[in-house]
Amino acid sequence: MCGIIGYTGKNQAMPVIVKGLETLEYRGYDSAGIALDKKEKFSVIKSEGKLENLIRKIESADVSSTAGIGHTRWATHGKPTETNAHPHTSENGMFCVVHNGIIENASVIKNELVKKGYSFVSETDTEVIPQLLSYHYDGNMLEAMRKTFMSFEGSFAVAVMCKDESDVIYAAKKQSPLIVGRGNGENLLASDVSALADKAETFAYLEDGEFAVVRKDSVEFYDMCLNHVTKNFEKNETQHAENTKGGFEHYMLKEIFEQPEKIRNLIKDKIKNGKIFLDEIAGLSLEIAKAEKLYIVACGSAYHAAMAGKYALEEFCRIPAEVDIASEFRYRNPPIDEKTLVVVISQSGETADTIAAMRLANSKGAFVTGIVNVLPSTIANECDYVIATKAGREVAVATTKGYTTQVVALYMLALHMASVRKTLSDKELEFYAEKIKEIPAQIETVLADCEKFEKFAGKYTDKNNIFFIGRNTDFAAASEGALKLKEISYINCTALPAGELKHGTIALVENGTPVIALCCNERLYKKTMSNIEEVVSRGAEIFLIRKETISHKLNCSEIVIPECIDIFSPVSEVIPLQLFAYFVAKKKGCNIDMPKNLAKSVTVE
Ligand code: GLU
Repeated sequence: MCGIIGYTGKNQAMPVIVKGLETLEYRGYDSAGIALDKKEKFSVIKSEGKLENLIRKIESADVSSTAGIGHTRWATHGKPTETNAHPHTSENGMFCVVHNGIIENASVIKNELVKKGYSFVSETDTEVIPQLLSYHYDGNMLEAMRKTFMSFEGSFAVAVMCKDESDVIYAAKKQSPLIVGRGNGENLLASDVSALADKAETFAYLEDGEFAVVRKDSVEFYDMCLNHVTKNFEKNETQHAENTKGGFEHYMLKEIFEQPEKIRNLIKDKIKNGKIFLDEIAGLSLEIAKAEKLYIVACGSAYHAAMAGKYALEEFCRIPAEVDIASEFRYRNPPIDEKTLVVVISQSGETADTIAAMRLANSKGAFVTGIVNVLPSTIANECDYVIATKAGREVAVATTKGYTTQVVALYMLALHMASVRKTLSDKELEFYAEKIKEIPAQIETVLADCEKFEKFAGKYTDKNNIFFIGRNTDFAAASEGALKLKEISYINCTALPAGELKHGTIALVENGTPVIALCCNERLYKKTMSNIEEVVSRGAEIFLIRKETISHKLNCSEIVIPECIDIFSPVSEVIPLQLFAYFVAKKKGCNIDMPKNLAKSVTVE
């Protein structure tokens, strides 16, 4: 995953690199490092843990230099130690490298280099890059790059500095994103356009198999055969995001509270006079009309958004909607033809498995619609149609507003498709469109009860296992609620369709087992209540999330959400679960915004 930044120019490199790494820290934060051009050698400073540790080290170091590279890591190979942190250097000190991705054949290459007398200091796959470069280098850097990167299997975005031209940054890319920015007397390189804000006036994406040579006054591109490549640079409109918590203790809480506004913002130009206007997919009408099947492909919370959206898509459009985990979809030869629609969902637009799924679907002739928050991004750039979720920058690693805006985008897609396919009448379309407009106010009602969650949370901090159950739309919300709690409080949680418990998992229920039961689906609430009784009979302690219209005789803690139609209930019923996860994690003293082992944008497969 990791974030890469490189700078060469007329100004000091360090402030630009640090600011870039701060912007990129969401991509990984188990260690960080920088390398600066000091002419006769590179100055490399690395640190274990969060970026703040590196910044403290830098404060007491001589960091004057006008060229350098930086990295914030999410370890794939080797523990998150200082030795394994990037940049990695070749044994002869000639090359310095930062890398995002996985070199899958690193151990084979390493063994060969060891036989040739090279010794390695880290456990990473990355270290083979500078070592192989030094093996191939005879004064021609591009030729050494070509030979080196041709040998690699897997994925990489790499920035390299070579002592012979120590203020030049070379770059190579396959699958992982890398962007070159051009400024005034200074040029940059980064994993993400946001890290180029302020400095780059224009930017261009490096494509797979391309090399970039970034000098302080010029930028050149080459293909794998070392032919010159000409690129169009786009104007950089990105502003450095002002990341403030706005009076909240954590970004996650701030983002939870932003949800009504973000959803209003998303739907405001799209629902008018009871009609949905998804102009961004207007060109897809013919395919929507004749489609026989729909795949929604995503990972993590976006996958749960897909689960919630599936009910609306099937119900409104009368089309089979298959929800797939991207890392599974991409390796299973799914039957896709011109009558198949594919929707991919990714908050960052950079999720490696989702990108691969999008490309696979494209190669099989399907039109792909991306539901994406970050623009520009690889998915937004490459898919045929884009629905932007407009959630704004999400800083907390555990998504909240990213998730709910994805679900609402899917509801609007479902209504748009139903209108094209004529599977709902105008009256029905109008009814559902009005119901979408009610969602922000429903969320506000739940948020007004925020303090209640703090009280409940205390009972769960010492639990090791929590079950989340629900049927249908409730199960989609339960799955996201369980993931939220796992991510930030490190409690093992299992989400199950309520009717599935008795097929095995109920064996784990005993006196005091906490079960969070979602009962907001009116059509199925009696069925869910029976499943709740089954676990109560075995000693489970229930925490019930129910709609105000659903009555019960249980003796349990509960949160009541306002009336909403079943099909759209996963949005408002997930809010209590987000708050619950937040307060449990807070009471446990966990790092809420940057949970261990995670990264915001998952750019490795
Ligand atoms: N595979 C490399 C490592 O484990 C890079 C990981 C990353 O993308 O941060 O160091």
